[in-house]
Amino acid sequence: MKDRKLAVVGATGLVGQTVLKVLEEKNLPITEYGFFASHKSAGKKIMFLQKEYMIQELDEHSFDYKFDFAIFCAGSDVAKKFVPIAVSKGCIVIDNSSYFRMWPDVPLIVPEVNFEDIENHQGIIANPNCSTIQAMVALKPLYDTYGIKRIVYSTYQAVSGGGMSAVTDLKKGIFSNCLPHIDVFLENGYTKEEEKMINESRKILRNPDLKITATTVRVPVLNGHSESINVELKKDFTLEELKQLLQKAPGIIVKDDSRNAIYPTVLDVNHQDKVYVGRIRRDFSIPYGVNLWVVADNLRKGAASNAVQILERLL
Ligand code: NAP
Repeated sequence: MKDRKLAVVGATGLVGQTVLKVLEEKNLPITEYGFFASHKSAGKKIMFLQKEYMIQELDEHSFDYKFDFAIFCAGSDVAKKFVPIAVSKGCIVIDNSSYFRMWPDVPLIVPEVNFEDIENHQGIIANPNCSTIQAMVALKPLYDTYGIKRIVYSTYQAVSGGGMSAVTDLKKGIFSNCLPHIDVFLENGYTKEEEKMINESRKILRNPDLKITATTVRVPVLNGHSESINVELKKDFTLEELKQLLQKAPGIIVKDDSRNAIYPTVLDVNHQDKVYVGRIRRDFSIPYGVNLWVVADNLRKGAASNAVQILERLL
């Protein structure tokens, strides 16, 4: 086996731990691993592929070890400081933070949607926001077949989307409530999460003028994001043909039988890598409108599995 070394940065966090789980399931042709986190976790022991590893504190010399690849799961500040160091030592980085996502020379990749954009990467590949990833998997087949005029996103996002500390929110402000507030508020009244969904969708679909609006809401759900997506298509469609298109598309499972009250929920999709689509119905208020209910595991397809899928294709 060719000698290939992988570093996971933020290995103790929610996304990092899920990356480890997905890597164990896939057992990729990687010969050596290094696991990094902050000084708080340094020295902690973890079991991975039946071997004991010690979590190392990330510092300026961590990448002197010549890792070929790194998956960063440690937030924007860590990415800003350490990703350029890793790249300067010849490492290819897949970053889960939002820091590089909108940089023009950084590909923003959902493998089922735009893997070809990875071609001219300069060492950094960005993983999109969790709510963007599942929306893109569901919308790409419609975009390619009918064209899209406008998208309205309304999300119902789990607390695990906010990391380890946010999970404790279930016991605090979010308990028994829905908060239309994810990430910080911007001058224009939107939240940064809403802006991310809008801008990242436009970048991935290579359509900077696409009309999109979004309302992103944190709900008292532990894991799994649900999205109501209203789409105005450019061409007419039949529901049957549209459902078949989604059924054949990569990464999607259609679970849609309203007569028998069958639709996807987070409890069905957790621990899975597919994006589930249901409640597929016409929007009768416009000529070519359709409504979708799109559900996925934010820690897996929304972060870890998407990153590992990218890595797998690079190996
Ligand atoms: P998290 O649970 O809070 O984990 C953060 C990780 O970063 C921990 O392993 C932490 O290590 C590590 N870290 C913090 N400061 C560090 C430093 N100075 N040096 C090295 N490691 C450091 O957060 P998360 O939810 O896993 O999110 C990680 C990233 O993925 C974020 O950028 C987030 O926006 C993005 N993301 C998250 C989701 C999601 O559903 N949660 C989805 C998509 C993208 P310690 O344990 O030592 O503190």
